[in-house]
Amino acid sequence: MSENRESNKQGILGEHAIVIGGSMAGLLTARVLSDYFEKVTIFEADTPPDEVVPRKGVPQGNHIHTLLSGGTAVVRKYFPAIHEDLLTAGAEYGDPMITNRLFVGGRWSPRVASGMESYVMSRPLLEAMVRKHTVAIANIELRVATSVSGYTHSTRDAHGAGSTASESNAVVNGVTLEQTGETISADFVADVSGRNSSATKWLEQLGYQAPQRGTIGIDVGYVTFEVAEPPGNQRDWNILYTIQENIPRDTRGGGIFCIEGGRYLVSAQGYHKDYAPTDWPGFLTYFKDLPYPDIYEEIKDLQPLGEAREYRYAAYLRRYYERLTEFPKGLVVLGDAICSLNPVFGQGMTVAAKEVEHLDQCLLQCAEAGEIHDKFAQDFFKGATRFVDAAWDGVSVEDFRYPQTRGQRPKGFGLAKWLNRKFFALSAIDHEFAVAFAKVFNLIEPPESVLKPKYLLKAAFAKMPVCDKSPPANIEPN
Ligand SMILES: Cc1cc2nc3c(=O)[nH]c(=O)nc-3n(C[C@H](O)[C@H](O)[C@H](O)COP(=O)(O)OP(=O)(O)OC[C@H]3O[C@@H](n4cnc5c(N)ncnc54)[C@H](O)[C@@H]3O)c2cc1C
Repeated sequence: MSENRESNKQGILGEHAIVIGGSMAGLLTARVLSDYFEKVTIFEADTPPDEVVPRKGVPQGNHIHTLLSGGTAVVRKYFPAIHEDLLTAGAEYGDPMITNRLFVGGRWSPRVASGMESYVMSRPLLEAMVRKHTVAIANIELRVATSVSGYTHSTRDAHGAGSTASESNAVVNGVTLEQTGETISADFVADVSGRNSSATKWLEQLGYQAPQRGTIGIDVGYVTFEVAEPPGNQRDWNILYTIQENIPRDTRGGGIFCIEGGRYLVSAQGYHKDYAPTDWPGFLTYFKDLPYPDIYEEIKDLQPLGEAREYRYAAYLRRYYERLTEFPKGLVVLGDAICSLNPVFGQGMTVAAKEVEHLDQCLLQCAEAGEIHDKFAQDFFKGATRFVDAAWDGVSVEDFRYPQTRGQRPKGFGLAKWLNRKFFALSAIDHEFAVAFAKVFNLIEPPESVLKPKYLLKAAFAKMPVCDKSPPANIEPN
């Protein structure tokens, strides 16, 4: 099936939209903008390779990546034909509660049918497929090896002649390209240039305040090896993941992801600078010494296909755009440029996908009104907080159980920490709740969906069962 479809709204909000950054969030953003603008241009600094391999602009692509069910649903909604392509390319697909063997929150996650769906593959494959389906859309152009070096703007005359951008009347009306100095005009610019985005600097250059920043220091280090899966391997999982068992005592965890090409991607994740060794024997010992040596058992007789690759993730980073009262018209910021989350919990791409879906809803309202209103960005940022907050607060509660974690604890930390333990305990024994809880983590349902009296009452009395072995898949819900 071709993605070459025409929307009946195309052009309704303007002739040209620009997307800065052609990674996961940027490609999805372009897909949505293509419904509302006559033409969409993505400027990407990197030159994505023809082969499905990690690229310079996305170094995290060397390491295990999962697209949670909430993100999978968004990707499938915008690219219905991607499913077949992913399977043909070797991605594994299924209900993550059955196909994932997860030790998280101090217990093995029950392996019960949830109705959710997700893929397991390398990050480069996922991005390559999303890119392929994005550029197949007739009104989208991807310009690679092209860095944006700033926004261009005009000044609305609402405040009279001579008013300045700092009087909140700037309209971003294009971008400047670094290599040529050329300016490209647009009716709308989406800055999706990742965690190191220059959006805040460029906003200041226009006379606007930069958003406040929040960080949570965790000093997580990834060490990753690629390994050939043994032929004829009889496994009933495609992700085997064990996150730190007893926080704050344990700082080590990791996982095996079964990726295309009959390969295992094996990542060790050490918190607070407890980084894994980068030599294979040391790496094996790291996994052998974990409280649950399941990963070690899978890889102990195998040999790596190459050298270890490393990634150091010092801190979550959030830019509170939603707190700004002044913001130029014609601009939004999305993806990691807004919020970069602890990668151990695998929520970054899914939060970005939910932001893009929200952008779609905001643009649809404008399309009905026939124009993008002045406070569009502020409304967008405020609405996006429901996904960003859910992920930021939800997982940082776990990370603040380490006394070394730096930053501001989420509101109600003591209660949230207690409730999380109770929820993990209840989800180990109550399969209906386990599914409801997993749907929150996967951004399929909002956090309120588990804050129901029937769950809270059961959770209050739940005790963590002693479990020393991962349960087999396909246990029916109780
Ligand atoms: C080790 C690790 C593991 C992770 N694991 C997971 C996981 O399992 N699941 C998950 O969902 N998330 C995971 N994440 C997070 C995930 O990688 C990010 O959330 C996601 O890549 C964000 O996408 P993005 O498009 O916003 O930014 P990025 O992917 O960072 O892309 C930004 C793009 O903008 C381009 N760019 C930058 N500046 C310019 C410019 N001036 N002009 C033009 N182009 C520019 C860059 O080249 C790049 O292509 C992980 C992160 C790390 C570090």
